[in-house]
Amino acid sequence: MTVVIDGLSKTYANGVRALSDVSLTIPPGMFGLLGPNGAGKSTLMRTIATLQPPDSGTIRFRDLDVLAQPDRLREVLGYLPQEFGLYPNMPADAILDHFATLKGVTAAGERRDLVAALLHQVNLYEVRKKSVGGYSGGMKQRLGIAIALAGSPKLLIVDEPTAGLDPTERNRFLNLLADIGEDVVVILSTHIVADVRELCSQMAIINKGQVVLQGEPSRILEEVRGRIWRRTVPRAQADAYRARHEVISSRLAAGATLLHVYHETDPGDGFEAVEPGLEDVYFHRLATLSGGRVPVDA
Ligand code: ADP
Repeated sequence: MTVVIDGLSKTYANGVRALSDVSLTIPPGMFGLLGPNGAGKSTLMRTIATLQPPDSGTIRFRDLDVLAQPDRLREVLGYLPQEFGLYPNMPADAILDHFATLKGVTAAGERRDLVAALLHQVNLYEVRKKSVGGYSGGMKQRLGIAIALAGSPKLLIVDEPTAGLDPTERNRFLNLLADIGEDVVVILSTHIVADVRELCSQMAIINKGQVVLQGEPSRILEEVRGRIWRRTVPRAQADAYRARHEVISSRLAAGATLLHVYHETDPGDGFEAVEPGLEDVYFHRLATLSGGRVPVDA
């Protein structure tokens, strides 16, 4: 039930190398693919979903050679792209009915039961008769998941589903994903560290088309335990601290600047030890890769 990606590369016609020798092993459960905008997440998702071919590499899922047998992969695939259109004048139940038909649920009674179950699952049953043009972003995303689930997929790919959702809708959406069966491979791409921290049993960080880290979030945190230090400094002094220390993140808090630095031992200078968060790992990796430059007051 594992997705095994080996040596995947893709260069677009404009010369952008979006994937560079990507290899990943993705077991059942929630897998978080974390990376900044432009990292190559969507390219990887579309490639696994067989929507665009890579230049080289292989993808296997169960007994399938995905790139050689795209039709068989699509039978077990649910895919929620970053952007998708819905007929705005149609109600959710009619849309789901349509997709269930496309997925081969031809018996009317069975389809009605399936549509009702999906609407309950994504908490849209009460509004099933309303045109989706009036839905909020979160409601549309939940309907998107219901569509993706209509064929009982074994591999579910969701590309940046929480972008643009408010915190309540984001939580609701993530809880929905977390409830999907354990024997399903769910690949969630996001640039929001908290999405991965809260949900995923396995994760990878991707940057500039390359996998820079893969593993269990808790183990990944162990890697930096005891090496993350923090200090709040007046805003005007922040640059001086940046010059002296390996600052991995910097945030404005109540008019002052909260700095996190990476150091194997106590850096002194008034810093105190802090329990590392996944953000620290993420920013440390990205900073290391970009030669120590970090986003200022991110
Ligand atoms: P992410 O999903 O992590 O934001 P993408 O896979 O969308 O990353 O993009 C990776 C890189 O490839 C970016 O530099 C992007 O501009 C470029 N890119 C994505 N799609 C295309 C395309 N169809 N043609 C040319 N360049 C593309």
